[in-house]
Amino acid sequence: MTAPAAEPLADPVRDRPVLTVSLAAVAENWRTLKDAAPRAETAAVVKADGYGLGAAPIAAKLRAAGCATFFVATLDEGRALRAALGHGPRIFVLNGLPPGAAASFAAHALTPVLNTLEEVRAWSDSGRRSAALHVDTGMSRAGLSPAELDTLVDEPALLAKLDLALVMSHLACGDEADHPQNRAQLGRFRAALARLPAAPASLAASGGVFLGPDYHFDLVRPGIALYGGHPMLAGANPMRAAATLTAEVIGVRTLQRGDTAGYGATYAATHEVRLAVCNIGYADGIMRSLSNRGVAYIGDVACPYAGRVSMDLLTLDVTAVPPALAARGAQVEIIGPRMPIEEMAARAGTANYEILTGLGNRFTRVMLDSQWTRVV
Ligand SMILES: *Cc1c(COP(=O)(O)O)cnc(C)c1O
Repeated sequence: MTAPAAEPLADPVRDRPVLTVSLAAVAENWRTLKDAAPRAETAAVVKADGYGLGAAPIAAKLRAAGCATFFVATLDEGRALRAALGHGPRIFVLNGLPPGAAASFAAHALTPVLNTLEEVRAWSDSGRRSAALHVDTGMSRAGLSPAELDTLVDEPALLAKLDLALVMSHLACGDEADHPQNRAQLGRFRAALARLPAAPASLAASGGVFLGPDYHFDLVRPGIALYGGHPMLAGANPMRAAATLTAEVIGVRTLQRGDTAGYGATYAATHEVRLAVCNIGYADGIMRSLSNRGVAYIGDVACPYAGRVSMDLLTLDVTAVPPALAARGAQVEIIGPRMPIEEMAARAGTANYEILTGLGNRFTRVMLDSQWTRVV
């Protein structure tokens, strides 16, 4: 009897789109942010798996570049990051302390960002001391409300049980340089700091870094800018793009005037056109709102999305591309130098953040510039 042949680990034929992440670009962006806030510590926000690009390799690269403080959203993200980084760097968990989680935070050396008075009490009751405290200055999302801050300040015994590693707040309009809410939140944050024991302070995310030194305090917490996203709504993007997404043409057909394409028949040819079908769809994060609105590139030629984006396939109008270049196997730039995430977001009616975090998990992922270089 012969043993059955072992299942091959991976089929050498690849039919998936390729997401390429430049860790060198992320590290360069971290240094750009550090130079923009020279008196503060520059941390890195790697929640949501590093905005969809891969938290573990990105954090390892940034740690090697000198980053000593990381932020994630949840306990599970914190656990995974601690396993990837080992002991040493600080990891703050932005979403705070879920009921019954104090022991898990301690076991993985994670620091909760305490967002409510209830969390402050739970953490001090657990006997742990080191924590970050989030005070709300106008976002009305996470952080102690003004009334909760009053209560905390009136309970010196409770405050005395905390070792404040960080007092932080978050700007609602940090991506708009001239928005009056920024100054208002800055004033409220300073007032809150004056009522609390001396501790390192942090107000700025990516946008806040570019609002100037008043906003930097002791630590800045950029996320989107690390990944090359434009931190502001206006002006030139000072960051370097970190991600490119390339799909492949798997078929081409010619339509005559009046022929339609895709679900709902929302695209109708007005003259003879060539359409290319590509191996990517909304299950990969190519939002359906890009139907008849998006643009991809073959070489330097813009190819409009033709009809609805479907789950696994995307149809492009490639009439302007020489037929030999828009054939089966042609590479299509979905995200890249000609189609930055900001442009794609504007066409989809969303923000650059959602373009990145919406990226799917069935790409061939290529990490450049590190020991993590891999093809999954
Ligand atoms: C996500 C987040 C950040 C990072 O924000 P970016 O705009 O991506 O730089 C910083 N602080 C808090 C509280 C956050 O939720």
